Amino acid sequence: MATQRTQTDDTSTALATARRQLERAAAETDVNEQVVERLKHPSKLLRVAVPLERDDGSVEVFEGYRAQHDDVRGPYKGGLRYHPHVTADECIGLSMWMTWKCAVIDIPFGGAKGGVVVDPTDLSPEEKERLTRRFAEEIRDFVGPTTDIPAPDMGTDAQTMAWFMDAYSMQEGETVPGVVTGKPRVIGGSYGREEAPGRSVAIVTRAAAEYYDVSLDGLRVAVQGYGSVGANAARCLDDWGADVVAVSDVNGAIHDPDGLDTWAVPSHEEEPEAVTTCDAPETISSSAILELDVDVLVPAAVGNVLTASNAPDVQADFVVEGANGPTTAAADEIFDERGVPVVPDILANAGGVAVSYFEWLQHINRHSWSAERVDEELESKMLSAWDAVVEAAEARDVTWRVAAYIVALSRIAEAKDTRGLWP
Ligand code: NAD
Repeated sequence: MATQRTQTDDTSTALATARRQLERAAAETDVNEQVVERLKHPSKLLRVAVPLERDDGSVEVFEGYRAQHDDVRGPYKGGLRYHPHVTADECIGLSMWMTWKCAVIDIPFGGAKGGVVVDPTDLSPEEKERLTRRFAEEIRDFVGPTTDIPAPDMGTDAQTMAWFMDAYSMQEGETVPGVVTGKPRVIGGSYGREEAPGRSVAIVTRAAAEYYDVSLDGLRVAVQGYGSVGANAARCLDDWGADVVAVSDVNGAIHDPDGLDTWAVPSHEEEPEAVTTCDAPETISSSAILELDVDVLVPAAVGNVLTASNAPDVQADFVVEGANGPTTAAADEIFDERGVPVVPDILANAGGVAVSYFEWLQHINRHSWSAERVDEELESKMLSAWDAVVEAAEARDVTWRVAAYIVALSRIAEAKDTRGLWP
């Protein structure tokens, strides 16, 4: 995963942005004010010390967090990140986004996020394993397959989830694959989990093209970031007939107005930062890709790349957010004024948590789904979510982003009203 600050504009934290977005959506609905007030706060925040014996025998203590935002619709769900910028507020803000993401695609989970304040590139594989096992032990009472289910995030991966699951299972006295998702397939991971966020971006791009009555065949797409999300989105769209005319990584972008062969360009995982070494008629900067004359722009690298300074120059007919938080609030307003629709991250890249849910279901049912079934179920989930967002946008005459929040908030509020307040 790319290293990234998760602030969605220069001055506000993930938590402030998440609260602002909640208020904006609440203002457009008749959701009970008390429910909105409850949703501004996480249900629980756990802070732990994670001592690690380094390879040289010294001991270092790292700080870890798990924020659980809301579980009215089902167990908490969200990633664990290892990054030096992890903070309690960041975990809370990101846990709120997970609540909306799960609700907008209508899976029975709530939102959580956690992490350890550590630079994972400073850790040897053995140190990372020891840190993960100790962190799993420190938050063990907090997580579980029916309470809170972590997943990989920045700085963590399928192997990290395997260590976490093993540490948890050892203490429980039984194998509990459902305590995490995003595991390797050999211990209960699902087909299609890795490709899912990019695939959902492609599914939603196709749905948006249909909505605007433009053909996917020959649709000119530019994708910033060629990692898990960007490369998988680009390749799906390429396979479905679109012309992916530009892709980029941290070093720059390649541009071919006739369309690139996306399978010939190595993804971040296949060969890190190799995009600009590929043959193409033109090489441009990674920021210039955002201003290309294309039909669709997919920012799929890091947050805060579409800002007040470049939003006026974006020429795409619409934007589909692959990354989390690529558009600042100021840029969002400019796009709204200019009539450039933005399909929001909480909808577009929600395929990751959707397939995490499928992985969890496979564990609960002691059953393994085929890759085809995963793709079909993902498509169905994403298209239902898209339809719900279209309905809300048309009914209230709001942007796709506000509509997605309205869908999520209405579902959560209805569940809260139905369950009532205990005691
Ligand atoms: P990744 O590490 O696999 O790939 C990131 C890509 O972005 C790489 O090609 C890298 O070179 C490029 N990049 C990094 N900084 C850049 C910059 N400043 N300008 C241009 N390119 C840059 O990461 P990923 O997993 O694809 O995640 C990308 C985004 O999608 C992040 O915002 C992440 O939070 C979000 N996301 C990821 C998942 C997931 O499961 N992988 C799910 C939902 C959302």
